[in-house]
Amino acid sequence: MGAPRSIVIIGAGISGLTLALALAKFGVRVTVIERNAGITEFGAGLQISSNARKCLDALGLGDAVAAASFAPEGIDLYPFNAPDPLQTLMLGEKIADRFGAPYAVMHRGDLAGVLYAAAKKFANIEVLFGVERFALDERNGKTVVSFTENGHRQRTIRPFALVGADGVNSAVRRQWMGGMRPDYSGKVAWRALVSPQSLEGIVNLDRVSVLFGTRHHLVVYPLPHRQTVNLALFTQERERDLDALEKGQPSLRNTKDRRLAAILAAAGKSWTPWVLAAVEIERWHKGAVGLIGDAAHAMLPFQAQGAAMGIEDATVLAPLLATASNPEEALARYAALRQERVKRVQAVSRNNGRIFHMGFPASVARDMVIRAQGPEGHFERLDWLYGYEPEG
Ligand SMILES: Cc1cc2nc3c(=O)[nH]c(=O)nc-3n(C[C@H](O)[C@H](O)[C@H](O)COP(=O)(O)OP(=O)(O)OC[C@H]3O[C@@H](n4cnc5c(N)ncnc54)[C@H](O)[C@@H]3O)c2cc1C
Repeated sequence: MGAPRSIVIIGAGISGLTLALALAKFGVRVTVIERNAGITEFGAGLQISSNARKCLDALGLGDAVAAASFAPEGIDLYPFNAPDPLQTLMLGEKIADRFGAPYAVMHRGDLAGVLYAAAKKFANIEVLFGVERFALDERNGKTVVSFTENGHRQRTIRPFALVGADGVNSAVRRQWMGGMRPDYSGKVAWRALVSPQSLEGIVNLDRVSVLFGTRHHLVVYPLPHRQTVNLALFTQERERDLDALEKGQPSLRNTKDRRLAAILAAAGKSWTPWVLAAVEIERWHKGAVGLIGDAAHAMLPFQAQGAAMGIEDATVLAPLLATASNPEEALARYAALRQERVKRVQAVSRNNGRIFHMGFPASVARDMVIRAQGPEGHFERLDWLYGYEPEG
């Protein structure tokens, strides 16, 4: 028997760590190169829908994810300044029964922690932190990656394939596949964490709440394991104003929506901005190099599917990379299996942004449609999304 197949992954985010685990099960030797010094707390809450959860369950992570997450009862949808929710979309046991796995919310840091703890149990996964730079090259038709480990030791690996899981600004995508930068979407996410006590009587803390408004919306959900509540406020900002955002606060401060005003007051000045950019490219691979997750297809978070798509990518790509006779074949098959679905999710996410931010009178028509669809309408409408079964 020869040496085990070697795969290099750039980026120890949700997509990269999921791929490492999925590959390790096949006995592949995996090296993950991460520029940060460790697993980061970057980001805040993530909704992990049934389609993503099924992939995590298949990796044997179901119990660990359940222990670090919370399954909300539903999603309360509030039109602008409405006293009560217009509709509560069912989640809870109904969605778990229908799609074979729960819909949960959790802190991104906790999901990364679960994945990393699982990865550490595999002798055939090494995660190298603090690697600030890597060089990617092709020699004699073989991909070669070189980098400095621990600040001094030069290492060169000639892997069977290299996968860029290095996020929206992916160096692998830009340096290896033609320099595409992400496109600014016109929207900014403002994230904050507040105490559950500060929101008592304002929203139901056993579920997700979405507050619609003209040119903005707010998503609220509890993270009981952290004894905190996740807020994500989405606003529309001009590109020329983006440089000033880091120091700033959301321009939306005076609002007639009393619920929104109370939540903004609870958050005070604790908001952190995140400029929302999208990556829509036709080419996800070149030679023995491929892309997954945000590196391939960063999307607007308005269907809460960015991380979910990275998790699905990893689930589909791993068996192909582990068994194909050449990497190009594996990467081409992976792209063929994934691209149409991801494009559809990107389109739904974009469209949701438009719908959530509608002003009067279009908002009246939107609200009528939401009411008519009923509390379980999203199960039918999104059956293709949540009911997905990955194939390799
Ligand atoms: C406000 C907001 C809310 C969201 N809500 C949801 C949600 O509810 N559900 C959901 O599924 N998704 C959600 N998303 C999307 C989700 O956060 C992302 O899609 C997901 O985190 C992408 O994971 P990734 O591993 O592909 O990339 P990243 O998380 O960006 O990870 C990339 C990793 O690569 C590393 N890296 C980058 N460059 C290099 C380099 N040159 N060398 C080495 N390492 C490198 C980074 O340090 C990082 O660790 C949301 C996003 C936002 C902004």
